[in-house]
This record gives sequence, C-alpha cells and structure tokens, in this order.
Amino acid sequence: MPTIRHVTAFLESFAPLAYQESYDNAGLLVGDPDTAVTGILATLDCTEAVVAEAVAKGCNLIVAHHPIVFKGLKKLNGSNYVERTVISAIKNDVAIYATHTNLDSVTGGVNFMIAEKLGLQNVRILAPKTKTLMKLATFVPVADTQRVLDALHEAGAGNIGNYSRASFRVEGTGAYQAGDGANPVLGSIGDYHREPEHRIEVIFPAHQQRTILAALRKAHPYEEIAYDLYALENADQTVGSGVVGELPQSVSDQNWLAYLKERMNLPLIRHTALLGRPVQRVAVCGGAGGFLLNDAVRASADVFVTADYKYHEFFDADGRIVICDIGHYESEVFTKDLLIRRLAEKFTTFAVIFSETDTNPVRYYV
Ligand SMILES: [Zn+2]
Repeated sequence: MPTIRHVTAFLESFAPLAYQESYDNAGLLVGDPDTAVTGILATLDCTEAVVAEAVAKGCNLIVAHHPIVFKGLKKLNGSNYVERTVISAIKNDVAIYATHTNLDSVTGGVNFMIAEKLGLQNVRILAPKTKTLMKLATFVPVADTQRVLDALHEAGAGNIGNYSRASFRVEGTGAYQAGDGANPVLGSIGDYHREPEHRIEVIFPAHQQRTILAALRKAHPYEEIAYDLYALENADQTVGSGVVGELPQSVSDQNWLAYLKERMNLPLIRHTALLGRPVQRVAVCGGAGGFLLNDAVRASADVFVTADYKYHEFFDADGRIVICDIGHYESEVFTKDLLIRRLAEKFTTFAVIFSETDTNPVRYYV
C-alpha cells in the first residue's frame, strides 16, 4: 500500500524541493508521511472547502500548488482561514502537500503546461537557474571505471539536456603508500604503489550530492576514495523561471488575444497597448511573473502572458512587448491536470481526482 512518503518522493523526483524559491514553503505541510494513501485530491489552492471535499471523496491526501501555510503559524485557534483549514485537515486525518515554485521551475512543470495549452513549440526555460549544478571528479582504477560510472549515472549524475550518461575520462597514474591499519585493495602496506587510473568527471544537480557520494562510496573499490566536488556557475537550462516558445504560425495581435482567451478559458484579459506587430514568440509565467518582464523582452518575445500585474507595472512594457495579465487562478488552474496526469500514471491502487471546488478568490462582474 503506497504511503504519503511514496507519493511525495515521486512528486519530488520531478519537482525537487531544492528548486523552490527561498520565500516558499513547499513540501508536506500537514500529515504523517507513513500513512497509507486512500486517494489523492489535486487542487490549485487548499481551503476548508477542499478539505471537506477530500473527506467526502475518501481522499486522505491533498496535493495543492499553493501552500496553505506560507508564513509561520504562531497560533492554531481557527481565527483565520489558514488556521481553520489546517485544523480541519488534522481533525479529519487529511494530509496536505504543496508543490509550488519547485513545480514552476522544472521542465514539464506549470509553465510548460501553459505552453502546451497555447500550442507553443520549441519551449525552453526563460530564466534558467544558476548555482544548482555541481561536478564530481574522482580517480578510479582503470578496470573499475565503467562500473563506478554506471553507479553514478544510476544515482542521477551525467544528465545534460536530452543527453544522459555523459562523462569525461582521462587516463593517468594514481600513487599512494598505505600505512598501518590500512587495508589496500591494490598494493600492500608500506609500499609506494602506482596504479593506472582514470580521472572521471560527471555533472549532477547539487541537491543530489548525498545520493551521488553514497553511490560513489558503494561502487568505488578503494578504502579511501579521492574525489573533488566543484560548485558550478553554469545555468541549468532545464530549471528556472518562466518559459518561452513560438506559435506554429504568427498571428495578428487581435487574433492572438482572441486565441489566448479561448485556449485559457478566460473571462477577460488585462493587457498593454497592442503594437500592431504579428505575434509568434510567446513568453509565459504562471502566477505573478512581472519580475521576468526584462527576460521576456531580451528573449524577443512579442507577448508576455502572466498575472498579478499592478497598474504602474503595466507601464514597464514601454512599447517593447505586450503584457497579457490573464489572472493568477486562470493561469495556473491547469496545474491540476498536470498533477493528475503524473500521479495517475504512477499510482493505480487508489483514485487520483480533481478538486471540483472553485477556489478562485477573485470574481468578475462583466
Ligand atoms: Zn500561483
């Protein structure tokens, strides 16, 4: 019987918590990870009504995009909707897990889902993350090189874009003198031993350092393993904020707005002045994406689809791009589809269902 821990480990295998922003609070917010899962309810927001829906539908795990507990909770007496939601979840043995900016940041995450909805092609990360990659260099007796590499790849090292099992090796001579108490696999105590070795190098995500080193220790034949870890400055092109891609054909800006409204099922679009130029390259950031405007301009996007723009921020478009504010809820509501698609593929012994509660706090009078 899969437990909550199995589900969260699976979610974190494609949306690692290490990729959440520093201000975020993604992860298991409420619940015991060793509880067996009876069903999963996927939602954009977790509210009291969503907890009630989970109970009614026999789901003891809610997977939400937005963390209901965002700032610290100092009291838990039901004085606001956050506290009431948490109390209700605890009373009903319903766990709450949030996959938020980490799911925004990964390839195949929230922004890729929006790009898919918009039929964009050649979709890539708009602002790739830096300081998330490391390199391991280690020194292995020639006969053991491939076995050690296989173990490192198995643990997640050597992935670059669409390439896997990437490594570099160069042959040289390792030398050492084993002292008292040592138990050398090659050479003997007191001898100055020389051994043909490979220096092998692999890249890996920094958050997997412990797993990678554990795999190295297990596979490497030596009692003491020489290795170097390097923090890399390279941006990881597969992780970061926002995406950009192209429509198969350019459309007029008027037709673009109609298309956007229809594809994202929008009641309205708040946008800056149209520029009378065809639209083909589209930058996207679900939720509040205003911080990416200059990245969108640098990427030569014709339009920037995002949400949560304030009046004065619209001026920043400055004739360079058309900002399309489609609403926070509307931009991210399809995250439910993304979660369900992934979870239902992996877990088949319990139901993985959509929350039908409309959690949008914004209503429109049109
Ligand atoms: Zn959001």
